[in-house]
Amino acid sequence: MAITDYNAVVAQRVDVASGLMILRVVPSGWALPPFKAGQYTVLGLMGTARRAPFTDPEEPPADPAKLIRRAYSIASSSVEDEYVEFYVTLVRSGALTPRLFSLGPGDALWLSPKVVGMFTLDQVPEGHNILLIATGTGIAPYMSMLRTHLSEIHQARVAVVHGARHSWDLGYHAELQTMRRLCPRFAYVPIVSDPEEESVPWKGRTGFIHENLNGGDARESLGFRPDPSDTHVFLCGNPLMIEGMLKLLSEQGFAEHAKGRPGQVHLEKYW
Ligand SMILES: Cc1cc2nc3c(=O)[nH]c(=O)nc-3n(C[C@H](O)[C@H](O)[C@H](O)COP(=O)(O)OP(=O)(O)OC[C@H]3O[C@@H](n4cnc5c(N)ncnc54)[C@H](O)[C@@H]3O)c2cc1C
Repeated sequence: MAITDYNAVVAQRVDVASGLMILRVVPSGWALPPFKAGQYTVLGLMGTARRAPFTDPEEPPADPAKLIRRAYSIASSSVEDEYVEFYVTLVRSGALTPRLFSLGPGDALWLSPKVVGMFTLDQVPEGHNILLIATGTGIAPYMSMLRTHLSEIHQARVAVVHGARHSWDLGYHAELQTMRRLCPRFAYVPIVSDPEEESVPWKGRTGFIHENLNGGDARESLGFRPDPSDTHVFLCGNPLMIEGMLKLLSEQGFAEHAKGRPGQVHLEKYW
């Protein structure tokens, strides 16, 4: 693949915090396919693309003739057809993210014309509560779900639990707080795991997600008590959080959803 084969361009980049950015990408002269909120696509850059400063040197160097491709959840609404938005964290030793972090508006990249994935609200029966749990950039598919569907959900309750090390790493915080104010059926629970590092004392919840969702605490913060009979739970991000939550949820009678074996817990593992 030649660099001239790049088929998309960066329209906007917002740096949320050091090593965390929101990237809006526009296809160059082709239309995005229809997709469902929660699905993912693939971004790519050539091995020759520049790595951002303050990232680790690459050993061995990437093959200059190859396109480095990685999957990214779409954060924008599925009714938005002009751009796709991504929420990306920098892996300093990684192959693609140090290159993505050297991009700015107007820079070209490769965007897969296919959007795929089963991590959608398709399996949630009408009227069931939806609990969306994420660490870090795992909030991305939920932003797409909320931006697409929140105004259509009238009978059930929806809650987002978002864990990050610091308050400044809580991407989309302002938008989620606005959704909470505008939608009485929606709860937003941001959780900071390293509150001692905050320069302004953090008044919200602290610690790990599973500690905050154990026992009576859950009903108070979510606005409902998650029960397998009327709640579907989505888990996205850090594999340790996913394992911890799966254990807690299975003790409460929840089962992981799989093809041919319906359950109430849906997973998207980033690594
Ligand atoms: C379905 C799917 C959706 C994804 N969506 C997103 C997304 O929306 N945003 C996003 O930032 N990443 C997302 N990822 C992860 C992404 O595909 C890459 O793995 C990641 O960006 C690292 O790429 P890299 O080439 O820089 O690192 P690589 O050279 O591929 O190194 C991979 C290593 O980086 C670490 N790593 C990977 N992802 C993360 C992460 N998010 N946080 C911390 N460490 C990580 C792990 O240790 C992993 O083994 C998704 C992955 C999958 C499978």
